[in-house]
Amino acid sequence: AQAPGTNHRTSKRTRRQRWYVPVQVYHAILLLSSWLAAILALCGCAPSQSIRTPCFHLLSFLSFFFLSVISSFCFLLDRKGFSIGELVWGKVKGFSWWPGLVVAWKSKTSPPSLRRVEWFGDGMYSEVKIQLLPFAAFSECFCKNSYASLPTYKDAVYQSLELAGERCSKTFTSAANKVEELKAMLDWAFGGFQPSGPEGFAPPDSYGKNNGFHNSSVSDYQPPAKRKYHDCTSLLHLIFKLSSTEQMVREVTVNGKKIEDFCLSCGNANIEIFHPLFEGSLCFRCKENFTETLFRYDDDGYQSYCTVCCAGLEVILCGNTSCCRCFCKDCLNMLVGPETFDKLKEVDPWSCYVCLPPKKYGVLKLRPDWSVRVQEFFANNSAFEFEPHRVYPSIPAHQRRPIRVLSLFDGIATGYLVLKDLGFKVERYIASEICEDSIAVGMIKHEGRIEYVNDVRTITRKHLAEWGPFDLLIGGSPCNDLSMVNPARKGLFEGTGRLFFEYYRMLTMMRPKEDDDRPFFWLFENVVAMSAHDKADICRFLECNPILIDAVKVSPAHRARYFWGNLPGMNRPLATSFTDKLELQDCLEIGRMAKFNKVRTITTKSNSIKQGKMGPLPVSMNGKEDYLWCTEMESIFGFPKHYTDVNNMGRGQRQKLLGRSWSVPVIRHLFAPLKDYFECES
Ligand SMILES: [Zn+2]
Ligand SMILES: [Zn+2]
Ligand SMILES: [Zn+2]
Repeated sequence: AQAPGTNHRTSKRTRRQRWYVPVQVYHAILLLSSWLAAILALCGCAPSQSIRTPCFHLLSFLSFFFLSVISSFCFLLDRKGFSIGELVWGKVKGFSWWPGLVVAWKSKTSPPSLRRVEWFGDGMYSEVKIQLLPFAAFSECFCKNSYASLPTYKDAVYQSLELAGERCSKTFTSAANKVEELKAMLDWAFGGFQPSGPEGFAPPDSYGKNNGFHNSSVSDYQPPAKRKYHDCTSLLHLIFKLSSTEQMVREVTVNGKKIEDFCLSCGNANIEIFHPLFEGSLCFRCKENFTETLFRYDDDGYQSYCTVCCAGLEVILCGNTSCCRCFCKDCLNMLVGPETFDKLKEVDPWSCYVCLPPKKYGVLKLRPDWSVRVQEFFANNSAFEFEPHRVYPSIPAHQRRPIRVLSLFDGIATGYLVLKDLGFKVERYIASEICEDSIAVGMIKHEGRIEYVNDVRTITRKHLAEWGPFDLLIGGSPCNDLSMVNPARKGLFEGTGRLFFEYYRMLTMMRPKEDDDRPFFWLFENVVAMSAHDKADICRFLECNPILIDAVKVSPAHRARYFWGNLPGMNRPLATSFTDKLELQDCLEIGRMAKFNKVRTITTKSNSIKQGKMGPLPVSMNGKEDYLWCTEMESIFGFPKHYTDVNNMGRGQRQKLLGRSWSVPVIRHLFAPLKDYFECES
């Protein structure tokens, strides 16, 4: 299905890779020089004087010359006297160049050749031989992708520039807010830190005192408190990832140890949880990384990161239609066998280890029950434990009343549609929505039975008292600023992410008091590919962990979403019903042939219909490839055909509405248990 030679790609984070080359060259030179030194030593020890020909002298001269060049090179690269307090960029495997501060050792017995660096953003230390570059190399080291997707990196950049600015007496006070301030800072950095230039942020004199021996209060910058569940050694252990993975493989293959006792991703023996897909476990750090990125997809429709380690520079893509997995070079070469990556690059199409029968490939073995394990993994992946939700006994049939619903960010009234499908009598369905096209769909398709109120931000306690009480609060706040897929994301506390707090505000106002036995249910939905940070915040506010549901199990399209809530039986397994259309073919109009069983997540963007970057379109008609028609997209989401055909909307507009919508069979699964509480049509 793919053009030859396109079954692998190099991660977009190429900046990291660019720096790998010199290091390899550097290693090669070192190796060469040690060989030369060895030859020289051998020659020097040779008993016979006769080999000391002019040629030998030339050789020895060259070797010495070479060695001295090397040693000065080493000095430049690694032993360069970065002084205490100096702002630097450091390279830790698995991360882009990261801003840090050279700090003093806590004791006088610091190992030679090791440097201690405090990283901005998370306040962690590394005590290792790390590559460092001066902070002045800002434009070379700055990584746009990390900046866009890693809040910690953004913090790190902000904090480092803040310190640099302070030292240069540069102020950014004209900025109205943090976003503008950061922008001004970046402009300053990319412009070469004018007017003072990089000299301006050299460490103040006070740093050099005490012969570099300081107590821990050395840094004039106080990093923010560590994240609750951060492993202090995480950066450190990532540096050793390669060697420890190698060691793990040895322990398993030679010494007969169990692979379940190691982190499959980094080789660490400090394990936290099982690896959901393959035999083996995950350490704390890798688990967190895994939950953030397993459901993250790139524009080409494939996973952004390796299925095994959720990282990886170079990956190979599965050639199976409807599979979007990729595997990285390091995992393949170390876990499956040396040079696997290069061999597989030639195989086209290649079936990945999730698609192949679950045999053992090297030490890599797919769990037969992996799809259940993924569920379990995401259900128990929070660092928090919460009190269980209040359980409401079901209501006897004759006492049940019609349901009253408040739906925030209602979209195209999926909630109402599902309630009606399930046969509920709906007394009131108040929907807060600002998109006119969406409102038109709900209004026309449900014949004016939905009461529309405007922006959620305008709803007050008084309104709720007037409209309520409600039995059910539903909503999924817009996800653009939470989704890691959006490079310009702002997180939970800025942009559209803040709307989460509107949901939370409604929830706190609507929850019945302790002594009120009236059943009250709520449901909050969001994307899976959000930062662990944002997710943890949402969990803390909603006081529960989410469950993960991927609509691919009940529909022909992938759509993994988190659901928080107190609906009874929410975490029961997702079961397909006979009305669910599971295959793409079931959703197509007559005369059209599906080229895939399942399609990737349909988003608001039209290119999400393509199955891969240059990839094929999912339908063929009269021998030609075609996009999905609107009615087919509607059908994939579980809506009736022509559901969004109002207002003379075009294809693009209709896809926008659908791309933001919930999957109907998933919501049906979640709402069905409410039948024990509310009145249905007889
Ligand atoms: Zn790990
Ligand atoms: Zn990997
Ligand atoms: Zn596959």
